[in-house]
This record gives sequence, C-alpha cells and structure tokens, in this order.
Amino acid sequence: MVRWARVTKQPAGREFCQPRELRSTLLLDWLIDTQENAVPSETTNNDQSLIDLTCALVRMESILGNERAVAECVCQEMGRLLFDHVEIDKVGNAVGIVRGLHGGPRILLDAHMDTVDVVPVNAWVHQPFAAEIDNGCIWGRGSSDMKGALAAMIHAAGGLDRANLAGTVIVSASVGEESIEGAALRTVMDRHTPDFVVIGEASNLNLVRAGRGRAEFTIETVGEPAHASDPGAGINAVHRMAAVIGEMEKIPMPEHQFIGRGTMCLTDIISIPYPAHSVVPSGCRTTYERRLLPGEEHDAIKAELVEACARAKAPDTMVELAMTDYRTYTGTHWVEPKWFPSWKLDEDHLLVQEGLRGLRSAGLEPGLASYQFCTNGAYSAGTAGVPTIGFGPSTEQHAHVVDEFIEIDQLSLARRGYESIVTTLLRGTAP
Ligand SMILES: [Zn+2]
Repeated sequence: MVRWARVTKQPAGREFCQPRELRSTLLLDWLIDTQENAVPSETTNNDQSLIDLTCALVRMESILGNERAVAECVCQEMGRLLFDHVEIDKVGNAVGIVRGLHGGPRILLDAHMDTVDVVPVNAWVHQPFAAEIDNGCIWGRGSSDMKGALAAMIHAAGGLDRANLAGTVIVSASVGEESIEGAALRTVMDRHTPDFVVIGEASNLNLVRAGRGRAEFTIETVGEPAHASDPGAGINAVHRMAAVIGEMEKIPMPEHQFIGRGTMCLTDIISIPYPAHSVVPSGCRTTYERRLLPGEEHDAIKAELVEACARAKAPDTMVELAMTDYRTYTGTHWVEPKWFPSWKLDEDHLLVQEGLRGLRSAGLEPGLASYQFCTNGAYSAGTAGVPTIGFGPSTEQHAHVVDEFIEIDQLSLARRGYESIVTTLLRGTAP
C-alpha cells in the first residue's frame, strides 16, 4: 500500500519526465510517504529502463544553474519506483529516501545534475542533447558526468529489498557542483545526516578512497600609468606580472604517495585597464588554480605565492583566495571562498572494505583509486569528515569533452555496484 501525500499528479508508468510547473521549491510538491512493505517496481532490474532514464536526463539541458527540469524528472522517477520520501530542497537538490525495515546506518548516494557547457557546439558529431545510442554508448552532454551515474543510483535504490535492509538509503541529485563543489551537498547532509557517503563521479568502476581538492587564488600586480608613447615614464604592471608568473612556475608541488602530485595552473590573465588606449597598464590580474592534497592549508599556500611575488621583485602585489558568487535555480545565493579540500580514507576503513566486498560480490573487479578532479567529496569527507568513497561508471577523461558518451555496459554494472555496496553495508537481519 502506498500513500501519496501532496503530490498533485502521480507519476505514470514509463512516461519519463513530463515537465510541469514547480509550485514550490520547499519540498511540498514532492513529499511522498509510503507505508511499509512497498514492493519495488520490476522495471528497476531492467537495463532498458535504466537506458531510457539516462537518455531522458541527457535530453534535458541542465548546464550549470539550469537543473530544474532534471530535478523534476528525478522526483518523478523516484516516485514511480516507490521511494519512501521524495523532495526538492530549498537549494534545488532532488532527494529521495528508501528506508529499510530494520534500523541501521544512513548511506547517501550523491550525483550532481548540472553539466558544463557544450562549446564549441559545432565540433560535436553527436548532438549534445539528443542522447543518441550508437556503438553500445549513449552520447551527449552529461552522459558520463554524471547523469548515467545518477540514473544508476536511482534504479539501484529503487530496486532494494526493504525487508532485508538495516538502515536508510538517501539518493541526492545535487545542483551547482561544476561551480561550487560541495555547497549543495552540505544542504543535503545537514538535513539527512548520513553516516557514509558514496560519490558517483566516474571511477571506471573502481573504488575511490581519496580525491584531490581545489583552490583558486587571484594575484594582482600594481604599476604606474603613463602615456604609452613614453613607457619609461611609468611602471608596466604586465611586465611585473610576467616576472611573477616566472617565479610561480618554480614553486615545487607536493606529492602524495597514493593520490599523486598537486598542480598549479594559470587559468586567466587580464591587464587593467582593458582595453588600454595608449596607456601603460597600472594593474594586471591573474587567477591560479591549485589542485590540493590532504593536509594542505590555505594560509601556507598563500604564503608560498606571496614569497614567489617577493622573489619577482613586484612590490605591492596582492594575493587573495578567490570567491565564488553563484545562484542556484531556486534563488539560493552562495558567496564563498574557492577552497575545496582534498580528502582520503584509509584502505582498512570499514567503508572501503565493505565497499570492495560489495563490488566483488556483484561480479566486479574494482581496484583502489583516487579522483584527480575535485568532487562533492571535498565537502562530505574534506570538510564534514564523513567517511566517503567514490564509485561510478565511465572515466574522468570522458568528462567535459566534445562528444561525451557513456558505455551502456558500464551503466548497468554501476547500478549493480551501487546496489551491492548498499546491501553489503546494510545487511538485514532476515535469514
Ligand atoms: Zn562531475
């Protein structure tokens, strides 16, 4: 028996993702309560159903900040699969819960709904939002990063046998990850307090137990303006920046035995004023993106950058941690430092060992790996300190590229993997 509450229209059969007006961003439209012993839909174990959902999600453009349609689609599908509770929270995350019949830990499976842009669009052979199926793959923006993983998580949770489950499974389809890693997940975790987190970013079906973090710093050199016809009369801030850049390249990067090296990349540069009309520029600003390793602190990295500026003999140069200014589709405004810490979990941690055991029992052969890109794990593990692993279909190299695709075989293996990780961790008391 299922009791639907405050759902204006019950999702129907295989009609995926009919867009409709979202009347409230505060849960009410999507609150669903099921009574005990809800029987999961048989279609959860159907590969075609998983392919259909992935394609439906890929067809919905959800470039960063535009995730509303995907969130509604996710809610509809969770409702169809008889999740115990489905909601869209205040920042726009779609969250569904499946409760076991026995008490136990709370596991959060997270996948973000937003994607990066598709430029240059004329370089795509497969249309980015057509979800074409060709050569055993689904093609389109977000297929690997990470709508395939999201679909696999939803179907894995939707197919769980509650009678044999001691604990709770929370699936979050989160917003804004491509701009501000972890901010949206923070909202989910504050509300649902998981004991364990599984990040679904691409891992090539390996088990990830660590990830590099990310930080952005802005550096601004100061000069003295003068007429460009007499450059010796001023101090050119761009020349000073050139010296700073040279010193930045010499900063040694740290290395971690398991994760690898930290990196630093000059990502943008602009002179001030820009454009300059016959003026020796009085300012120059660059942004550096630093990939972080466990234990790195923002003050120490900033001190390294300040020392490099001093070696470049560029007086008055300013070094600052950059800020994110981001607004979600529900209007939540985040202004926060661009500091997303690295994280790791020991190999002998229960979550790693049970995760490996679960994946092997599903017939997979996972290795242990680390994420080189930054993920929502920066918050769940790096900031909140909640044990976190990563597991997902496809590879990091398939993210953010022209003609993005996901292999259909990996999709169904990922669904089996999620299901098996959960059932291994939440083993019920029934024989
Ligand atoms: Zn991603």
